[in-house]
Amino acid sequence: MDIIKPFTQNSTAYLLQQKLLRHGLTEHETKELRKHQDGSRGETWFARAVAENCDEAIIYFDLVLTLMGKEFQIDCLIIMHDELYIFEVKWTNHDIICRNCTYYFLDSNVEIITYSQQAVRTKQLFRLLLERNNLHYSTYYYHVFANPDRKIYGITPDDRCLTYHDVTPFLQQCSRVPMSYDHTALHRTLMKHALTHSRYEQTVIFDYKQAARGVFCPCSQLISKATNKNFRCRCGKTFTTREFLDIALYDFRTLFPELPISVPAIHDWCLKLVSERTIRRYLMNYYVPHGNKRATTYQPANSK
Ligand SMILES: [Zn+2]
Repeated sequence: MDIIKPFTQNSTAYLLQQKLLRHGLTEHETKELRKHQDGSRGETWFARAVAENCDEAIIYFDLVLTLMGKEFQIDCLIIMHDELYIFEVKWTNHDIICRNCTYYFLDSNVEIITYSQQAVRTKQLFRLLLERNNLHYSTYYYHVFANPDRKIYGITPDDRCLTYHDVTPFLQQCSRVPMSYDHTALHRTLMKHALTHSRYEQTVIFDYKQAARGVFCPCSQLISKATNKNFRCRCGKTFTTREFLDIALYDFRTLFPELPISVPAIHDWCLKLVSERTIRRYLMNYYVPHGNKRATTYQPANSK
């Protein structure tokens, strides 16, 4: 198994979650957050299933591709037995019925048009991308339904639809046979057409002056100081000073990329739970200082 492009968490879900904690959300943003969190749950679960069950496979997660100015996204592309599998991962909170590769809500019998439209568009653009680069592959497009609590009725093999319970045996079976050919040309083509970020990615605006300070646990509660060297969340999770500052710096840099990193700024950002001396030592270890005395700012070691 070779994971060429690893799975990364949905960045819009992270940003909206941060906005919820630090500014609050509008009703529309709350719905968006829920949608992204659901999507993210499905994708995270699928990424783990792929890592655990694929044997002979070349894997790309979250490919954002462009062709003729059009952008399309693939949750997961896997090369198995020299064939291409595109997986579109869905997390639905409804039971669904499938008829002739088309999905309907079970209770209302209303077609889920977005599923069909996205499948048609992705298949078309991907086929064109291969053709234009003179690549010849059998390509299969699969819907994956990740929520184990929801049922998908009426599936036939022609629908190319996998439920929660189908994924493990399917991946194990398809990735059992070794590859016979080299896939470098395909890789080059994918990288040539790949974007690092979608142009349609939502921008979430943060206002430093108004934003609530503090370091939050993944469970969304504020982390507080437990002992001199340890921090604790009410959920029971504990953090070392280093882990606490890692989260603080990650959030600060992601939400306010335009702001300089300085000891007083991080001190304030952490609700002064860590001493300025400790913050300075941390920044001296992992960042590059510029300027001197109180005016010193820090930059990540790998940035220019
Ligand atoms: Zn917690």
